[in-house]
Formats: sequence, C-alpha cells, structure tokens
Amino acid sequence: MTSTDAATRDLPPLAAAQGARKAFTSGRTATMQWRREQLRALDRLLAENGPEIEAVLKSDLGKHPLETHTVEIGSVRSEIALTLKKLTAWTKPRRVPVPLFLRPARASVILQPRGTVLIISPWNYPIHLLLMPLIGAIAAGNAVVVKPSELAPHTSHLMAKLFTAYLDADAIRLVEGAVEETTELLEFAWDHIFYTGNGTVGKIILTAAAKHLTPVTLELGGKSPVWVDESADLDAAARSLVWAKFLNAGQTCIAPDYVLAPPAVVDRLIAALRQQLTEMYGADPQASADFGRIVSVRHVDRLANLLGSGVTVVGGQVNREQRFVAPTILRDVSLDDPVMGEEIFGPILPIVTVAGPEEAIAIINNRDKPLALYCFTGRANIRAAFLQRTTSGGIALNAAMMQLAVPGLPFGGVGASGMGAYHGEHGLRTFSHQRSVARKLRGPDLTRLGRAPYTARKERML
Ligand code: NAD
Repeated sequence: MTSTDAATRDLPPLAAAQGARKAFTSGRTATMQWRREQLRALDRLLAENGPEIEAVLKSDLGKHPLETHTVEIGSVRSEIALTLKKLTAWTKPRRVPVPLFLRPARASVILQPRGTVLIISPWNYPIHLLLMPLIGAIAAGNAVVVKPSELAPHTSHLMAKLFTAYLDADAIRLVEGAVEETTELLEFAWDHIFYTGNGTVGKIILTAAAKHLTPVTLELGGKSPVWVDESADLDAAARSLVWAKFLNAGQTCIAPDYVLAPPAVVDRLIAALRQQLTEMYGADPQASADFGRIVSVRHVDRLANLLGSGVTVVGGQVNREQRFVAPTILRDVSLDDPVMGEEIFGPILPIVTVAGPEEAIAIINNRDKPLALYCFTGRANIRAAFLQRTTSGGIALNAAMMQLAVPGLPFGGVGASGMGAYHGEHGLRTFSHQRSVARKLRGPDLTRLGRAPYTARKERML
C-alpha cells in the first residue's frame, strides 16, 4: 500500500472510472441543468469550508491562510462565477459559411462533452490545480474522475470528504492515491486525460493514453527565464520578481526560475531584490508566517544540493526538520552550474550575467521551450525581440505571473512545458469535442456537376 490508507478509498480506481462512465452514459451530465448545479455546488463547497481548507494547506505546505483564501479558493470561485455567466454564450453552436456549390445548406460547429475524463493533479497548489480543470470538465458536460496528489495528503483527504458531501457522487469521483492507484486508473479507456505535473510522468501519461488513442492535455513545468535590463524600472521589477519567485516558497510552475541580466544591472537588481525580500518576509524569513515550507524532506535535500552554484548573496540557510529553505539569491552563476540544470521549484533565484539581449535570447532558445518568460525592459525593440524570436507557453512584459491571472488568456505550455491549454473558455473547449454538422436543405443540387458521368459539358463548365 502507498501513502493512501485503505479507509479513505471508497472504491478501487477502476471501479470509480467505470461508475463515472455509467453516469455519463445516462446522459444527465450533458444537460445544462446538471452542469450549472454542479458548478454551483462546487462554489458552495469552497464558500462553506474556507477554514478547513486553509488548515489543510497550512499542514501540507505551510501556506498562510490569506494566501490560500486568494490564490487557492478565490481564484477558483472567480473561475466558477465567470463560467456560470458565460456558459450559454460559450456553448452556443457556431454557424460557418457554406460554399456556393453546396448551397442551399447550413453548417455549424457544436460542442459535445468528450465523455469520461481523468484529471491528475500535483501538490503545489492542491486546490487550485485540482479544481480549475474540473470546472472546464463539468462546464463541458463530462463525467470526471480526479486524482489529487498524495504529496499534499491533508488536502487530498479533505477534498475526498467534501466531494462526496457536495457533488454528484456518481459522475464526479475523487480517487486518492499515488503511483499504484494512478497506474490502475491509466489502464482505463478515458475520453480525455488532463495531467498537471512533471515531464517525466507526463511521458508515462502519454504512453498510457496512446494505447487507447486517448487525447491528452499536459500541463508541465521547466525553467522559466527572466530578462532584466537597465531601461527597466528596477524597483518595480524586483517587487514583481520577489512576489512571483518566493510565493509558495518557489513551488510554482510559472515562478521565475533564473534571471539573465547585463553587467550594469546586476548589483542594482540585487540591492532592489534584497530590499523587497525584507519588506515581504522581514529580516528573518524563517520566523515569518507568510513564507511557506518545502513539500518534503526529499525536495529540501534536492534544493540544498543546488545551493553550491555561484555566489550566495542573500539567504542560503536550510532547516531540514522544518522543511525550510531560505529565500536565496545566487550571483555569478554559470550555465553549467547544477542550479541551471533542472527546474528549481524552490526559493532559489540564480542570476546569470550576460553581455546583452542577443546572448539572453540565444540561451533561452538553446534550452527546452519554457512555460513562462518574463521580460523587464523599457525598450519597445527589446520587447519585440523577445516576443518574436523566443517562444514559451506565455509571456509577461514588465510583470511576472500576470498571464495566469487574465481569465481570457489560455494557460498552457509548448514543447517540453506541455501541450494544450485551459482557463475560461479554453478550459471548456479542452474538455469538449468540436463536432462538425452539415445539413443539406431542399433545392437545386450543384454537386452533381462534380459526379460521374464526366461529360464533355461538365468538363467545359468546370
Ligand atoms: P506530483 O509528484 O504531485 O505528481 C503529479 C501527479 O502525478 C500526482 O497526482 C502523482 O500521484 C502522479 N504521479 C506521480 N508519479 C507517477 C507515475 N509514475 N505514474 C503515474 N502517475 C504518477 O507533482 P510534481 O510532478 O512534483 O509537480 C511539480 C511539477 O509540476 C513541476 O515540474 C511543475 O513545474 C509542474 N507543474 C506544472 C503546472 C502547470 O500548470 N503547467 C502546475 C503545477 C506544477
């Protein structure tokens, strides 16, 4: 048995999948009434259980209740409100023009639920990353099985209890567990799999999905670079970077991973970052209730091994028992250093000094396509260069993580950082099949011109 204890598993994973399929086959999940009821029930689940949710996130990740209230609960409730408001408009059939030779006729695209879908979530935002895709899946009319991460066990157990209490228990099922349970779930012939997590497991998901030709959305991670130059407002850049990098102790998929900056900027940027860090977490971040903890001792050890890179100018302290790694800034880091070899996913910010934007763009393009890219500059030509000559899932200019917070923007990766996207209407579409509908109306049939017998007259006309 893995980290899940038997008592919390009401059903074996495959039985949960089969039960969800049965509920989908009944047809009720496709109705607008069911979708709206379940979205409202999900909203009530969050509205009525704030203190419990805040408590489990404190246990799992040391998250401050206010951070849970805004980032985990508030963001999901906003997405539910937006989806309920726009559901009719988003699901309306879209008419498309019919070419002359096919008229009289009509053509449209209708959205259908994909069917029975699986959502696998990670531990770092265990509410947000579990429920945001679920909103799209429900809005599209699917039956759903969700599998939260075993590495945030308190959150997983609480959500298992709340799902049963608030949601349609046949059509929306939560399966707790780790590798063993997920492997079992992956044997099922899903109509869509939505996975958030690391790329190594992403390949396992794709391989399993290939057996059934199941479409897959992969929300992965990677190293998200930052460019800062001397034309940027350095105080504003530092404020934005410190918030985005050290939120959730750096365990955020779109956190700035490393900074590329020209020599003239480095000292001033470090001073501005240091000042912002003190403003946010005080002189001793370990004593601050606002600064989170690393999810496991294994990850603390992994991060400790990255601290040898470059020169430590801020932080560097580690307390294994408390799963604490201090907000750390490293300078004079080289591209070959261990900290530049893997996604950091912790509160360590390396700064690599580069000659200028050309070198920065070359470094970015030489690596895996990132999930996010941040560019702090006052120059339009530099913004244009990063926009046109690099790629990433999303990009924010003179801000960090803002691309996540705009509901109309698709959220997803490219290349090694993922495939597919969601949020708002994009989430609904991810979990929908776009069905083409063509309808012939009574009237003259011009298509006979293209059919045999191919007479000389037809040849002249065409
Ligand atoms: P994790 O360890 O919680 O794993 C994610 C899920 O995969 C869990 O539900 C887990 O049970 C399951 N899993 C683990 N091993 C498996 C296996 N062998 N077979 C089947 N399932 C398995 O989370 P993680 O992967 O450590 O998450 C961190 C990574 O996720 C980072 O790379 C981060 O950048 C990325 N991430 C991406 C996004 C995004 O939206 N793009 C969001 C958050 C995290």
